[in-house]
Formats: sequence, C-alpha cells, structure tokens
Amino acid sequence: MRTGRSHAPNVWRNWAGSAQCVPSRLVRATDEGDIVEAVNQAASRGLTLRAAGTGHSFNPIATTSGVLLDLTGYTGIVALDPETPSVTVRGGTLLKELNWALDKAGLALSNMGTLEDQTIAGAISTGNHGSGLHHRPFSGHVLGLTLVTADGSVRSCGPEENPELFQAAVTSLGALGVISTVTLRCVPKFNLRVTEGSQPLESILEDIEAYAGSAEHATFSLKGWSDNASTLKLEPTDAPVSVDAARRRRANTLGEVRCATAGLVGRIDQRAVQRIMTAQLGGSAGPADYVDVSYNAFTFPQPVKFLSLEYALPLTRATDAVRNVHEDVKRFGLRTPYSITVRFGAGDEYLLSPAQGRTTAYVNITVPRTVGYTELLRVFEAALQEHDGRPHWGKAHTATAESLEDLYPGWKTFQDIRAELDPDNMFTSDYLRRVLGGTRRAH
Ligand SMILES: Cc1cc2nc3c(=O)[nH]c(=O)nc-3n(C[C@H](O)[C@H](O)[C@H](O)COP(=O)(O)OP(=O)(O)OC[C@H]3O[C@@H](n4cnc5c(N)ncnc54)[C@H](O)[C@@H]3O)c2cc1C
Repeated sequence: MRTGRSHAPNVWRNWAGSAQCVPSRLVRATDEGDIVEAVNQAASRGLTLRAAGTGHSFNPIATTSGVLLDLTGYTGIVALDPETPSVTVRGGTLLKELNWALDKAGLALSNMGTLEDQTIAGAISTGNHGSGLHHRPFSGHVLGLTLVTADGSVRSCGPEENPELFQAAVTSLGALGVISTVTLRCVPKFNLRVTEGSQPLESILEDIEAYAGSAEHATFSLKGWSDNASTLKLEPTDAPVSVDAARRRRANTLGEVRCATAGLVGRIDQRAVQRIMTAQLGGSAGPADYVDVSYNAFTFPQPVKFLSLEYALPLTRATDAVRNVHEDVKRFGLRTPYSITVRFGAGDEYLLSPAQGRTTAYVNITVPRTVGYTELLRVFEAALQEHDGRPHWGKAHTATAESLEDLYPGWKTFQDIRAELDPDNMFTSDYLRRVLGGTRRAH
C-alpha cells in the first residue's frame, strides 16, 4: 500500500455487534490512490474486497473474509459551490462532519434520517432515508459520484454523464465498486419546529396519506400495548432555535437509556417493560414543541445498541400493513420497549432503491439485542412481506435474491451492469450472494 495502512487480520464488528468478520487484510484508505491500489492488489491476488463505512448496518452487508477496505479515514470536503448550491465530499465523510461544514457555509441537506454518525457512501449504498412525503431517500440529494471499479479505473456518473451507471450505482450495496466521491445538492440552512403529540392509531389509519402530508416531515410510532400513536411533525420555520432545544436532546438520550433499562429488566420480568416505559417520571417535560437547527431536529444521539428491521412498502398498502403488524405485536406477548415507527417518502429511480418507483411508507421495528426478540422480528417481517415490502438493505432481514428479484423492475439491468463491471465477483460476499446472487456475465 502507498499511504493507506494495511493491517494483519483483526476482528471487525458492526455498531450493533450483530455482525462480525475476520478479513484476510484490513486496509485503511486515506486518499483515492489507496482505494485504486487496494482494488488492483485484490484483483492481482484473486481476493474479494468489501468497502466499509462506520458499520451502522445491522446485518453483515459490510463483512468479508477477503480485503476489508475501511473508508472512515477518507473524509472531507473536496469542493463546495454556494451558487448551485452543492458540495462534493469523500465517501468516508460522516454525515455530521458534512452538516457542520454546510452549516458554516449557510447551507444544509433538505432531509435526513435519525442518525448522523454514518458515512455518506454507506448511507446512499444502503438506501438510507428520513421522513417526508415529498422527499426522496438520502440518495435523492446525489447529483453525481465517482466509483473505483474492479479494473482499477475511476468512473464518473450522474444524470447526464453515464446515466445508466448512475441509476445502478447510487444504491448499490457496495456491489459495483468503491464509491470515492459524492456530489450532493444542498439548500439554504433552515430551522425546524418539532411538535410531538398523541392520537388514536385508527384516526391516522383512516387516511394515512392525509397524515403523511400533514407536515413537511411527519412520522408516527406505536407500542404493542397501546391503541394510541405518538406523532412527530417537523415543519420548516423562520423562528429562532428555542432555548430548550439542547434540553430536548438530553431528554431523547434519557429516553434511549430508559428503553435499554426496560429491555434488560424485561429479560427477567416481561410485565416490567410496559410499566417502565409508561411510568411518569418526575420532571418529565411532556410532549415536545421546540425549534432547532434542521440537522439537530432530524437526528438524535443513539448511545444504546439495539436491532432494527425495516421494510419499504407502497404507501397504498401501509394502512393494512400497520394494522397487521400492530395486531401481531400485540398477540406476540413479548414486549419490546421500542416503538414501531412509520415514516414516509417520495419514490426514486435508482434500480435497487427500496423506494424505487413508488411513494413509500417505511415501517420499522426496533428490539433489544436479546435472543427472544428474533422471533418477533420474523413475525413482523413476514407481515410486511405480504404487502410488497422491500427490506432496508442495512437492517436485519432474511430476504433472498429469489424473493427480491420480482420486487425490483430494474433487477436484471442492475445484474447486467454488475456482471460487466465485476465479472470476477471481486465485490461479493456471503451477504451479497444471499441477496443478489452471484454475478453472471452480461453476454
Ligand atoms: C442507530 C442507528 C440509526 C439508524 N437510523 C437510520 C435512519 O434513520 N434511516 C435509515 O434509512 N437508516 C438508518 N440506519 C441504518 C444506517 O443508517 C445505514 O445502514 C448506514 O447508513 C450505513 O452507513 P455506514 O457508514 O455505517 O455503512 P456500513 O454499514 O459500514 O456499510 C454499508 C454498506 O455500504 C457499503 N459501503 C460503505 N462505504 C462504501 C463505499 N465508499 N463505496 C461502496 N460501498 C460502500 C458497504 O460495502 C456496505 O455494503 C440506522 C442505523 C443505526 C445503527
């Protein structure tokens, strides 16, 4: 390696501790030359290679027994154009680093998920998303990217330049090569008003599209033991950041710790989960209504580890799906302290994006990392699969290529591009063989 550091085998683990591997080489890239050299060396030795971000995927999508190319040292802004406005970043840049840099320039991303600790390339590769009926997934910000492919070349693509490659490469699970740089569309910096509430679940399900459109970023969540939903609405505002915004973030962190405590106690006494989660704590601030800078309002610190499973459904199927999973979770008996969360988003055109071609409802369940909950995830997953659900590529799921093929109209086009770019299966892994199958040459 040139400047990139290459290490003897080491155990690599994801954030949740639910996936691990012992790569034959661990290479840490700090510039694009390191990426090209790692790819060329893997090719000459006949090794497989997987790019890894911060490991915030819950499944083994980033694991490998071949070369693990750690991109968390390949960070920073390459160019910022305040006119467009747009920004070009290195693939290993953390979302929070980007948010700070944009903030200083008076800019922001128009939408994002609840986490800002992962890498830009990892977020777009797995179909990361936030909530907002008129907002596409995180990949919707992408104006172009550069990709190091199996032959060691660096290819650029965007809507105008190599559009077929672009449609395949944006959400590509690390299967087409290593994303080097990404150019993202920005918007002027803005604040959001955050409003929490509660209403009967059925009053939302009566017209879920109306609920989805009732705020720029609407979400709701429910517990297995209640027929009331907690609502969360984020709306752009000219109002300044309110004094209690920081206190609210601390309250979110305490909420996370409370879930973890309930999960631990629940191992011994299941009935205690509901008691802990519904207890009125002294000094509780009640439903939130505050203003914060956009990226602080979208995200919250998530210090406690858990497991999540999420499926993207056509919005038109969401009402039945949510009723089904809520009934299933109620019947299941085992209580998770975490909520079922429902978010919304516009469709996009990227071949393997879970939101491809359809206005989407994302239905997520989070559980403690203990064995008993695996069965709950399976029950939940089966119900969502009944409603044309596509799994989040970075969350727990059991889907296979056979079951996924029919859910993606662009599946064959993606596989042809994959076979052309990676004819010798350099970027494959056990997980990719399961969800995408092996590569086959286009002709
Ligand atoms: C606490 C928590 C909260 C979360 N919240 C949300 C949420 O709100 N919304 C949501 O949609 N998801 C959410 N997720 C899922 C998570 O955001 C994604 O799976 C994550 O973005 C992956 O980013 P990463 O940097 O950790 O990538 P990794 O998990 O390290 O890798 C994921 C995939 O990206 C590929 N990859 C990484 N870098 C490159 C590169 N440079 N080139 C090519 N391929 C690459 C890897 O090969 C792998 O296939 C959450 C996860 C956690 C743990």
